[in-house]
Amino acid sequence: MVKETGFYDVLGVKPGCSPEDLKKAYRKLAMKYHPDKNPNEGERFKQISMAYEVLSDPEKKAIYDEGGEAAIKQGGAGGGGGFHSPMDIFDMIINGGMGGRREQRGRDLVHRLTVTLEDLYCGATRKLSLQKNVICDGCEGIGGKRGTVHKCTQCHGTGMITKVQHIMPGFMQQNKVPCRPCAGQGEVFDEKYKCKKCDGQKKVRDKKILDVHIEKGMRKGQKIVFSGEGDQEPGLQPGDIVIVLEEKEHPIFKCSGMDLFMEMRLELSEALCGFTKVIQTLDKRNLVISTRPGEVTRHEEIKCILEEGMPRYKSPFEKGRLIIQFSVVFPDSIPVDAVKLLERSLPPRPFEEIPQDVETVNMVEFDPEQDSRSQYKNAYEEDEDEGTPRVRLQQCESS
Ligand SMILES: [Zn+2]
Ligand SMILES: [Zn+2]
Repeated sequence: MVKETGFYDVLGVKPGCSPEDLKKAYRKLAMKYHPDKNPNEGERFKQISMAYEVLSDPEKKAIYDEGGEAAIKQGGAGGGGGFHSPMDIFDMIINGGMGGRREQRGRDLVHRLTVTLEDLYCGATRKLSLQKNVICDGCEGIGGKRGTVHKCTQCHGTGMITKVQHIMPGFMQQNKVPCRPCAGQGEVFDEKYKCKKCDGQKKVRDKKILDVHIEKGMRKGQKIVFSGEGDQEPGLQPGDIVIVLEEKEHPIFKCSGMDLFMEMRLELSEALCGFTKVIQTLDKRNLVISTRPGEVTRHEEIKCILEEGMPRYKSPFEKGRLIIQFSVVFPDSIPVDAVKLLERSLPPRPFEEIPQDVETVNMVEFDPEQDSRSQYKNAYEEDEDEGTPRVRLQQCESS
């Protein structure tokens, strides 16, 4: 047996109704009496929210059923925090808790931090200085002297008002705009009690220095989150500071997953007669690589060194591969008397049979890149002369 039925009556349900029916009833009434639609029913909207908040929570419902509204208001319900704001409940139930225009959290501050490949390989610490909003300590985020703050009568404390625009006869458009008198804050206070430190803004800009720890094996695009260090807003959970790592291009190494990639130029003598080369790693160790006697390295040949790639994030002793692509530089010419000596060491040339009847012709240089560029340029100029639509039309006809 319930002590009183006031909250049930507000929602138009009977004690003992199902949670689904309760939600349905709230939804219907909240839509009807939302301040945007019914600015004069702010009190009603609040009552609906309060009733729903109590009856949808088994604990609070038990207190209410036993002791009525007085028991709930004595503090059994929300403790010191009291009730949620009607708008928050509305957003939670109607907008699926996505926050809508009334966010539960302040916004995240996103910062890009450019680091070197060495930083990502070895790990590093960077100091980052940034500005953020913090709750004013002069007024503890009230904006003025305590007790002088009143709920804004224009927007009923919601901070937003609905502007109805007549577009044409019979058609109206509703726009939600921040309330002017309270600057979207939902409350106003006497000018003379306004906090001097924040000029009634409730928050001030503050400089913050963060130690950003770049761990071994982090990658570009990786996010480092400083939870709760973002902008502070009165009545909201502070957002996060999110550091997004950007990678500065390295002159030698490129990173792809856990592998490092580099190009190594070889003279033709090195490619044919062998080489010994030193590679300085990202942590400044010197690796020596060499060919076996008689081994030939071809142009664009790829080899790799195991365990010399990027370290794995959170498991830095595990490393990827260092992949080396060789690029062999051919000389433009060689001394004529060297040709015979060289030929003796190389595989014999295949026999080419020359027919009786031949034409001897000359070869000239050909640069495919320049050639395609000039072709493109011609096409582009033509395009401009004739206009794009005509070109498209011609294409259609020919196909
Ligand atoms: Zn202040
Ligand atoms: Zn207002």
